[in-house]
Amino acid sequence: MPDRPKVVVLGGGFGGVGAVKKLKDADADVLLVDKHNYHTFQPLLYQVATDLLDTPTVGHPLRDLFHDHANISVKQATVTGIDLDKRRVSFAEIGSRPYDYLVLGLGATVNFFGVEGADKHAFPMYTLADAVRLKEHVLERWEAADRDPGLIDDGALNVVIVGAGPTGVESAGALAELYRANLAKDYPDIPQDKARIIVVEAGDAVLSMFKTGLQTYAKKALEKRTVEVMLGEIVESIEPTRVRLKSGTVLNAHTLIWGAGLQANPVVSGLDIELQHGNRIAVGPDLTLPEHPEVFVVGDIAWITDAKTKTVLPQLGSVALQAGEHAGETIARTLRKKKVEPFEYEDKGTMATIGRKSAVVQFRRGRSLTGTTAWLAWGTVHLALLSTGEDRAKAVVDWTWAGFTHERAGRIIVDETER
Ligand SMILES: Cc1cc2nc3c(=O)[nH]c(=O)nc-3n(C[C@H](O)[C@H](O)[C@H](O)COP(=O)(O)OP(=O)(O)OC[C@H]3O[C@@H](n4cnc5c(N)ncnc54)[C@H](O)[C@@H]3O)c2cc1C
Repeated sequence: MPDRPKVVVLGGGFGGVGAVKKLKDADADVLLVDKHNYHTFQPLLYQVATDLLDTPTVGHPLRDLFHDHANISVKQATVTGIDLDKRRVSFAEIGSRPYDYLVLGLGATVNFFGVEGADKHAFPMYTLADAVRLKEHVLERWEAADRDPGLIDDGALNVVIVGAGPTGVESAGALAELYRANLAKDYPDIPQDKARIIVVEAGDAVLSMFKTGLQTYAKKALEKRTVEVMLGEIVESIEPTRVRLKSGTVLNAHTLIWGAGLQANPVVSGLDIELQHGNRIAVGPDLTLPEHPEVFVVGDIAWITDAKTKTVLPQLGSVALQAGEHAGETIARTLRKKKVEPFEYEDKGTMATIGRKSAVVQFRRGRSLTGTTAWLAWGTVHLALLSTGEDRAKAVVDWTWAGFTHERAGRIIVDETER
């Protein structure tokens, strides 16, 4: 068979998977590479961390998504560098590979903004491993406090969540429901008022990207679930059992969840191109790199200016998926010598859930929803985004079970040292 054009897609997140799905009938050899052998559904990571969903619902095998497409292959490997001029990508495990077209969708990583101790002691929530680590740490602290009640006043059960964006708010709400509904029954001797959940936010509102009315709703909904919200407070340093704020307040807490900031994947620093805020890569209207029309950049790593509003699109799953699909579609059309279009983002609304029957949804034209209707809308949108019907079924079963019974099945610690 004559050599076909080679398309290399880096990253099997929303962006990468979106691109590959649009390339399944293309006359090209498509290689999808990710350092994990699964796609991570980041928006539901906090549900793994709080025992609502199991790992296979939120992580889906990448190979399973493309079984029926002979032109697509998947490799688990770690990208170490990209040579834009030579059109080659280097990997830690498989040497280097050439490309005719490249889709760069390596996502973002946590940004601790240099806060002392954060890299060692904070729990970020960006990968499936992060979510499992957090879940097991919290459960382990409850078991420790049950054995030694002296740990309770030391803050063993207190959780500080840094950042009141969607990640912080969703984690705080879910954790509060776990504490007050499930762990309260599991550990009847531990007084619940000694297990605090505190959100620390430098700004003056929770969910700052939402309208004021929705911010107020979200704050009240958190407080109703016994979450303490500290606004205008900045974390200065983090120790294993203490969190120090710039105001001088010291919080006793053995767990700190970091939901405060992102930066683009470190691979971008080797590209020798000018980077934007958060180290993101600016792309043109067709999502390609200036001077490299064969390189598409999509998702959290990209700095995409919206064609309609002229604002930079946020780091969201919906943006990543649509951009990835557009990149894949553009490559497929180019190979067929068809006309291509610039990228246009279709904003279907921004949403965040606070807990059972409580969420906020804000549509582009100003309409908004709160409460049960918003919560159902949030559930519907997230189910639609999950990779396969099987994942959707798993999530529906777990959510329905938890919805009716308030039960969460995953409250076990698997000891790694026994493996
Ligand atoms: C906790 C949390 C909650 C969120 N909630 C929402 C929400 O409710 N709604 C919403 O729209 N968005 C939400 N987001 C944002 C959304 O998940 C991201 O915008 C989206 O995942 C970005 O997709 P991506 O494809 O750019 O990157 P990612 O999904 O991060 O995928 C990048 C992929 O690259 C791989 N990778 C990274 N480095 C390497 C390397 N060196 N070599 C090989 N592979 C590599 C990773 O393993 C990963 O699979 C949330 C994010 C988080 C963290």
